[in-house]
Amino acid sequence: MTQAKSPIIFWFRRDLRLADHPGFSAACATGRPVIPVFVHDGRVEALGAAPRFRLGLGLAAFADSLNAAGSRLILRRGDPLAELRALLAETGAGAVWWSRLYDPASIAQDQKVKAALRNAGCDARSFAGHLLFEPWTVETGTGGFYKVYSPFWRAVRGIDVAPPVPVPTRLPVPSVWPGSDRLESWHMDAAMGRGGAVVARYQSPGEEMALRKLDVFVDKRIDLYKQDRDNLDAEATSGLSDHLSLGEIGPRTLWHRGQEAIRSGAAGAEHFLKELVWREFAYHLMYHSPHILDRNWRAGWETFPWSEDRDNPGFVAWCRGRTGEPLVDAAMREMYVTGRMHNRARMVAASFLTKHLMVHWKLGMDWFADCLTDWDPASNAMGWQWVAGCGPDAAPFFRVFNPETQAAKFDAGGAYRKRWIAEAQKQPPQTALDFFSAIPRAWMLDRDASPAQPVVSLEAGRKRALAAYSDQFSTPSNGKLA
Ligand SMILES: Cc1cc2nc3c(=O)[nH]c(=O)nc-3n(C[C@H](O)[C@H](O)[C@H](O)COP(=O)(O)OP(=O)(O)OC[C@H]3O[C@@H](n4cnc5c(N)ncnc54)[C@H](O)[C@@H]3O)c2cc1C
Repeated sequence: MTQAKSPIIFWFRRDLRLADHPGFSAACATGRPVIPVFVHDGRVEALGAAPRFRLGLGLAAFADSLNAAGSRLILRRGDPLAELRALLAETGAGAVWWSRLYDPASIAQDQKVKAALRNAGCDARSFAGHLLFEPWTVETGTGGFYKVYSPFWRAVRGIDVAPPVPVPTRLPVPSVWPGSDRLESWHMDAAMGRGGAVVARYQSPGEEMALRKLDVFVDKRIDLYKQDRDNLDAEATSGLSDHLSLGEIGPRTLWHRGQEAIRSGAAGAEHFLKELVWREFAYHLMYHSPHILDRNWRAGWETFPWSEDRDNPGFVAWCRGRTGEPLVDAAMREMYVTGRMHNRARMVAASFLTKHLMVHWKLGMDWFADCLTDWDPASNAMGWQWVAGCGPDAAPFFRVFNPETQAAKFDAGGAYRKRWIAEAQKQPPQTALDFFSAIPRAWMLDRDASPAQPVVSLEAGRKRALAAYSDQFSTPSNGKLA
């Protein structure tokens, strides 16, 4: 077979969709057979319990949509380069194409794969698609990267974003398919324990669901998005983060729907795009300062006296939704049951851990990475460092969220707390009861448990945090960007 007619292997990772997919559309447009492939590699192995489980659901949904379009998803397990080489040999394919990822480990892996395949004469290519703006295309006036969100937003808001490409009209397939693993044999839910069955009820994976959610959001909620998005009890946001994380919907699709909504006068639409651009900013930072994933983004915080003890009783109580601070506990339970947490609640829970409890943000970030079905490396790291005070564009450390004031403001009637905390309610809602079905039995917690007692007094916790901050940063040279 000549290379011009040979199949193209399309290597899917976090781009599980058919619409708004520049790389896959380009592959289909060649008319050559296209073999969609997903490789279960070390990166998948390293995922937390909930993201791996959600990825399994996403792969099943994506395989269904490929089947419905007359194609297939080939599943392989192992080192990507070895698996792709094996597939090239088995199928006679002459090309491997994929969409780019931006975390340092993926970049290093992709560079290695690209170089090795090209050396062997294979047409190895990567495409954009996960982001609106490639991180190296947005620069400050002096040629650096943006370290503060607002100027980043001003720099990108006027950039022309290419419209989303439509679903390919035809998915050309090979005459013979290579062998594939069965998805069930990967046991993507293995680390979920009994929580898997509970969390599953709150999931709606797949591209079709994502597009439907977007329609509902644009029709019914985008207008009021700016004013309602912080209200903990309102369903005011898009709920698209897990779909974006796995690429079940493309950011260009959201951008253009948001622009249309602005043109039709929807008051909240610009704010929605601003939030979407926070995701871009997180990727911009991760690409240009990858240490955001595992080290304090700002210098001067290395010796900050955060506890790194995973057995710290405050940390254990926080993970288990038993801090005795109702808004924090409600937030932690929402995440354990649904795999998601309201953005406002994420900020309050993260602030409580890093400030009132003085626990290192890395422990909180890791717990989120284990529990969130919308886990995203860039947004999670940026969110934690931003709240902890050592990150970009930080609200100063000394602005400590008070969970009770936050509750009074954003959960005034207490509906959010009632939805997630069963203790002390005569007839708790199913959502609150679901928590006890989802948690490990080893936590020895059931619906008859007495209400949790505060692990720290808000005033004492705040004072301790501020004293530590003042000790650390009493010299003006500290707290600067690394
Ligand atoms: C400590 C902490 C950890 C976080 N971890 C994650 C994470 O692992 N994965 C994740 O997707 N988001 C994370 N976020 C950001 C944010 O909470 C979620 O993106 C948001 O709650 C998702 O809900 P939605 O899809 O309804 O958002 P919408 O309000 O409808 O916003 C639309 C999209 O914009 C993006 N977005 C909105 N707000 C933010 C933000 N603050 N930062 C980055 N992107 C944003 C998301 O992709 C979101 O889906 C974190 C925030 C904090 C404070």
